[in-house]
Amino acid sequence: MNFRTAPRALAAATTALLALGGVAACSDDGAAGADPQRVDVVAAFYPLQFVAERVGGDAAAVSNLVKPGAEPHDLELNPRQVGQVTEAELVVYLKGFQPAVDEAVAQNAADRSFDVATVQPLLDASAGGHAHEGEEAGHADEAGAKDPHLWLDPTRLAAVADRLAERFGQADPARAADYTARAAALRTDLAKLDAEYTEGLKTCQRREIVVSHTAFGYLAERYKLEQIGLTGLSPEVEPAPQRLAEVAEEAREHGATTIFFETLVSPKVAETIAAEVGARTAVLDPLEGLSADHGDYLSVMRTNLETLRTALSCS
Ligand SMILES: [Zn+2]
Ligand SMILES: [Zn+2]
Repeated sequence: MNFRTAPRALAAATTALLALGGVAACSDDGAAGADPQRVDVVAAFYPLQFVAERVGGDAAAVSNLVKPGAEPHDLELNPRQVGQVTEAELVVYLKGFQPAVDEAVAQNAADRSFDVATVQPLLDASAGGHAHEGEEAGHADEAGAKDPHLWLDPTRLAAVADRLAERFGQADPARAADYTARAAALRTDLAKLDAEYTEGLKTCQRREIVVSHTAFGYLAERYKLEQIGLTGLSPEVEPAPQRLAEVAEEAREHGATTIFFETLVSPKVAETIAAEVGARTAVLDPLEGLSADHGDYLSVMRTNLETLRTALSCS
């Protein structure tokens, strides 16, 4: 447009631009500061980032509070990260998993948060645990505690995606149908993964898995495995010598050929037990974060399945 046109023509053009305002707000051409066309989402750790990205698609800008390769349980937030939580349009977190995030959300984003722990009741800390007759599964100090590692059951992650799509739709009603459709597409992928697990772990010579921290309760519960953990629900607690002796005894008793360790935690303890009972070690990734060279939730879960099938001699 030539701005030296007559005043009347200029006025008409201005009116036309104003009329276009509503359309421009939905277009992709961006603006100053945070992208006003996209929902600004902060995820508390990797699996929640994965779900938010899949459901949000190009309508969401998703960031993760945890750096790649870092263990999220004991995350501390610096002022910049607290600022991220404060400024987000939506914070996706799991209450009870990261105390620092729980606190930041309560203080700064209570009305803009989505707690995935509310989607379905959480399992008890002892779920999927291994116990002999007359014994308690799990650790005495976790009596009454809930297990936060729900993303290791793909069907639960699908339920989280559906509810997150509803939440996106409330924040951004114009695109509600898109969020629903993307959650449905993710559900299809997760159902396929679930079917592969059910089939792949149907017939195995052993069902006990010896792991570092007890992150695999949901996986064990869903696919009828039994988890024997060196430490409890959190990876940073050093196991007591007595616990090491118990786990070594269990591993021997059940003929375990593999002691699992994690990508984001030192393999030292797993190696000690493996050496003692003559087993090998392998990575079983609890997907609390991605290490640098890994793919995504779906590909790491498939790698885990192959690792389990080998370790448990599944046919
Ligand atoms: Zn964990
Ligand atoms: Zn046993």
